[in-house]
Amino acid sequence: MIPLFIADPKVRPGGPSAWWLGRSLASLQESFLRKKSRLILRRGNAPDVLAAVVRETGAAAVLWDESFDPVQRKIDEAVHAKLTRAGIFCGAFNDSLLYDPRTVRNKQGTPFKVFTPFWNHCLSLEEPAAPVKFNGKLIAPSVWPRSEKLESLGFVSRAQWTEKIGRCWDPGEKGAKAVLQKFLRNRVADYSEGRDHPAKEGTSRLSPYLHFGEISARQVWHETRQHMIADRRPGIHRTGEAFLRQIVWREFAHHMLFHFPESVIRPLRKDFLKFQWRKDARLLRAWQKGETGYPIVDAGMRQLWATGWMHNRVRMIAASFLVKDLLQPWQEGAAWFMETLVDADLANNTFGWQWVAGCGADAAPYFRIFNPVLQGNKFDSEGDYVRRWIPELSRVPARFIHQPWEAPSEVLASAGVQLDKNYPAPIVDHAAGRKRALLAYHRMSEQRQK
Ligand SMILES: Cc1cc2nc3c(=O)[nH]c(=O)nc-3n(C[C@H](O)[C@H](O)[C@H](O)COP(=O)(O)OP(=O)(O)OC[C@H]3O[C@@H](n4cnc5c(N)ncnc54)[C@H](O)[C@@H]3O)c2cc1C
Repeated sequence: MIPLFIADPKVRPGGPSAWWLGRSLASLQESFLRKKSRLILRRGNAPDVLAAVVRETGAAAVLWDESFDPVQRKIDEAVHAKLTRAGIFCGAFNDSLLYDPRTVRNKQGTPFKVFTPFWNHCLSLEEPAAPVKFNGKLIAPSVWPRSEKLESLGFVSRAQWTEKIGRCWDPGEKGAKAVLQKFLRNRVADYSEGRDHPAKEGTSRLSPYLHFGEISARQVWHETRQHMIADRRPGIHRTGEAFLRQIVWREFAHHMLFHFPESVIRPLRKDFLKFQWRKDARLLRAWQKGETGYPIVDAGMRQLWATGWMHNRVRMIAASFLVKDLLQPWQEGAAWFMETLVDADLANNTFGWQWVAGCGADAAPYFRIFNPVLQGNKFDSEGDYVRRWIPELSRVPARFIHQPWEAPSEVLASAGVQLDKNYPAPIVDHAAGRKRALLAYHRMSEQRQK
């Protein structure tokens, strides 16, 4: 068996994801070495590289973990076509999802577009197969094919990412297992309540590990289910189920992307093709840099830049602010997230952005526009999250932390805040931005009726 990783230039991860992938491959190389095997690394067009390795080694079959994202699927299809033409057996297996998207259909035989029936349907299916622990030996070839050096693949990315993000994460299978165990031990019992408060460590932070396949959804599913039986704390069943529901949201997003690959760039609700965005590079830049003047939005964008991750509640608030208060196209926000997240995942990201923009499957109704001040007061009531990511505001009292422009000047002065000098004044008035967004929505709806 020859474990092989190909860096195909058609797959272009953003800086933090590239950094993660580099570390992940290093960890996988070590695992194979411990099993007296190796991980061969190559670079180039995947079908050509595979054909060359098959020729060099006389391999009879090529097996891989099937992907359901459109970029990777195209590559997989080209590999399959080239190798089967050459008489090589090809086999792809689904290990990234709980179920094969081709097999999950509603009573009409079409894909689910609403989450709750999808969730209920998944619960009615046979449980996903439990992972099998591999204790066997990996049979090595008599001569190993050549491998490129990990550094030459270009994943060890710019030093700024390495330094910043390296402090927050431990990529690799071992890290993934430790994160899941820690979550089940310490946090799952409080998940339903804790998951919405960004200052707390209330969620699992498994997203990059799941994205890179360092832990599988089936492993998370079964370990959580076992934990729910073994843990005697009251309410564990409810909170464990709330967590598994998120794993099924991931599943839903991936099934949606498989069935509607064009959703990466096009809204699922076609009427949104006519939505009048107001593209403005200056506003987009202020949002990207965390300089909108709305502390909860800015804290989220700065957390993203510093750690490659943002809390889910804040992702929703920041995304809503961009597409509704600032009327910037959701595709711009999605692209920035893909560039800067360690868990950048085409399925979850596309789904999340379309959900917030109101144009996706089972999306939030358009008129439900997040108010960043109320959201901040509700989910970060003491302002701890804002203070952590915006040190300029660290001495602002909780009452004004989510709306410093409302604070009397002496309060701001004693907190050392000078609006528009060391922290921006709001770049848009939320009430006016909300009105403008609703107007744009009504215009679009009127056009549909014409
Ligand atoms: C605008 C926007 C963009 C997003 N982009 C991404 C992305 O690129 N990659 C990504 O993995 N997630 C994305 N999400 C979903 C979600 O924010 C993250 O999965 C979550 O914050 C990861 O943190 P966690 O692992 O601690 O989550 P937990 O709460 O511990 O959840 C466990 C797992 O369930 C899955 N999950 C949780 N929430 C969602 C959700 N809303 N949709 C789909 N799957 C979910 C993730 O795999 C997550 O790791 C996005 C959400 C929004 C609103």
